[in-house]
This record gives sequence, structure tokens and C-alpha cells, in this order.
Amino acid sequence: ATPTALMVGVARAAGLGVLVKGPRALEATRAVDTVVLDKTGTVTTGRMSVVASVGFGGASSGEALRWAGAVESASEHPIAVAIAAGGGFPAVRGFEALVGAGARGEVEGAEVVVGSAALMAELGVTVPEQAGSWLASLGPATGVLVARGGGVVGGIAVRDSVRPSAASAVERLHRMGLRTVLLTGDGAAAALAVAEEIGVREVRAEVRPADKAAVVEELRAAGRRVAVVGDGVNDGPALASADLGMAVARGSDVAAQASDVVLVREDLHAVPDAIELAARTLSTIR
Ligand code: ADP
Ligand code: MG
Repeated sequence: ATPTALMVGVARAAGLGVLVKGPRALEATRAVDTVVLDKTGTVTTGRMSVVASVGFGGASSGEALRWAGAVESASEHPIAVAIAAGGGFPAVRGFEALVGAGARGEVEGAEVVVGSAALMAELGVTVPEQAGSWLASLGPATGVLVARGGGVVGGIAVRDSVRPSAASAVERLHRMGLRTVLLTGDGAAAALAVAEEIGVREVRAEVRPADKAAVVEELRAAGRRVAVVGDGVNDGPALASADLGMAVARGSDVAAQASDVVLVREDLHAVPDAIELAARTLSTIR
């Protein structure tokens, strides 16, 4: 393709709400044969709300929510935004985001951790049987645990919804002959529920941010040309290792910076639109 034609392609893509960072990204877009979709905030809206909460070990669910809310007030993760909604929480000191796992900080003189069961295990916090079965009972909702002073004191379940256009966008990708994969740090039950809803048959769940990149490398090593579509800080490594990184609208700056393409429409049809446009633009010129 001539430089002029590539520039025209980049400009046309912009008209579709697809910001392509230069001609080379347009060529990469055309070559894609596998689309890896992040779940939370990409396939789903990322606007979560709390749907259930429970107290463990003598704590009430209200206390668990209060301690968790204090820590999550300092985090921008979609789960944190849901838990900290409403405000009015005690102050947090020494806040730390544990990307892809949870968050921690000191609240009212005690160390509070909010996050996945895997994180608790990693930190040496025993997950009581009760908490394990509560998590297993949640189905499509995402459950996180709250620990205080080294013991689990509660659980909080959050949920968001699948973007209305996700299923038809995936159907279009399949019709175009592309393979799709759902990749998430969330648990298997929540991941499978979303995959089924949007028609994606390949699911990788409970994948930590660094391992998301490893999944991409594995696909590339098998000869796939991989696009990753993601929104979060946790997707940065995967977006950077993909043949084509695509950051969704309203995602984090980290995702946008690690990507070759930024989708400014809040609609997953921007993905097949971009791939079709790249193919059309580049083939008319040859
Ligand atoms: P996804 O891949 O679906 O975008 P993340 O990698 O951001 O998800 O998070 C993976 C898991 O880590 C979440 O499902 C949750 O269990 C936990 N987690 C991450 N950040 C937080 C947080 N701020 N508060 C509670 N849990 C969190
Ligand atoms: Mg995400």
C-alpha cells in the first residue's frame, strides 16, 4: 500500500471511532486471525454494583463492607468503585493496589485486604470452608473476600452486565473467520457465564496480568496473529505482547498507551469494523 492510501485508511478508521496509531497498526489489523477479549470492562460494562455481602468469623456484613469500602475508596478498579460507592468510609493508610488480585491498606489500626481467594492464599490468610462455599454459590457474580488482621471477616459479591453489542460483535468476528478467546482474571464461574452469553467457546479464567501476556505468547507461538482487546492496567502486558493491542473506550491510560489502536466507541462492533476497514483499505491499493 502507498503511504497516502495508508493515511486515508487511518483517517477513515477515525471516522468509525477507531484511532489507529499509524499505518503499521493498520497493516497489523488486517493480518489478525485471533481476537482475545478481556472480560471485565471490555466485554462487560465494568460498571459494577454490589449484589450480596456476608460476614464471617463473628463480623457482620456491614462491618466487612465498611472495612472493604475504606480500602477500595483509594482504588480505581471497577470492583473497588462498586464497593466504595456512597462514600463515608473510615480513612485508609498505606494503601496498596495488588493489580489483578486485590487491594490492601490499614483501616482503624488493622491491616485490611480485599481480593480473590487466590490472593488470600498467597498472603497466608486461611480461607474458611464457609467462605469457600459462599464463593462457589455465586454463579455469574464475582466474589471477593475481606480479611482483617489476617483473618477472613466477610465476602462481597459484585456484578456488571455484558455490553449489549457484545454477542453480535462476536458473531460477526466468527463469520469473518476469526477465532475468539475470553481472557480474565476473574473466577471460572463468572467467566463461563459471560462466555456463554456472548458465544465465545474458548475461556481462560483466573489468569494474572503477567500470565495474560503468556497466553498471548502461547497463541502467537502456535502461529496465530493475535489482537488483544482490553481496558485495564491489568491488560497492559497482554496488549503490549499482542500483534495488535486494542484499548476500549473509557479504559485506563495504561491500556491506551500499550495499544496500537484505541476504540473510542463504547461498542465492540468497533473491533470487526476496524478489521474489515483495514482489509478493504489495504486491498484496494494493491
Ligand atoms: P479482569 O481480568 O476480569 O479485568 P482483574 O485482573 O482486574 O480482572 O482482577 C482479577 C481478580 O482480582 C478480580 O476478579 C478480583 O477477584 C480481584 N481484584 C482485583 N482488583 C481488586 C480490587 N481492587 N478489589 C477486590 N478484588 C480485586
Ligand atoms: Mg478489564
